[in-house]
Amino acid sequence: MDKQELYEVAFNIINHKKLRRFGTAGHVACALETYKGNIFTGICIDLPCSIGLCAEQSAIAEMLKNNDTAIRRIIAVFEDGSILPPCGRCREFIAQIDEKNIQTHIVLPEMKEVLLQDLLPESWDKKWN
Ligand SMILES: [Zn+2]
Repeated sequence: MDKQELYEVAFNIINHKKLRRFGTAGHVACALETYKGNIFTGICIDLPCSIGLCAEQSAIAEMLKNNDTAIRRIIAVFEDGSILPPCGRCREFIAQIDEKNIQTHIVLPEMKEVLLQDLLPESWDKKWN
C-alpha cells in the first residue's frame, strides 16, 4: 500500500466524537502498514486532566492485539485532512515496540516521508541495542 492509500485509510475513519466533560475522540486517525502487509488503524482520545492517547498508540495496540510488531509505514491525519507528524512520545513508542521500527517510514505533511531514525537521531538506549 502506498502512502496515498494509507492516507485515505486514516482519513476515512476520522469521526470526531464529543465525550463527557470536554472529552473528545476521533479527530485524529492513524493508519499503519506492517511488514507482514497488515493494515491497522486507531483514533486519538483526549480527556480532561491530560488523560488520553494518540491515534498512533491506539493503532499500535490494535497491531499488537493481532501479534504484529514491525511497522513499514505510518501516518496520522487530522480531521481537516492535514497530516500530523508523530509527537515525541509516539516516536519513542514506535521505536520501542520492535527493533525494526527505527526504519519505519513516517509520512509527514505534504506527503514527505522520512525514516523514524531521522526523527530520533540520538537514541537513549543505544547502549542496550
Ligand atoms: Zn503522539
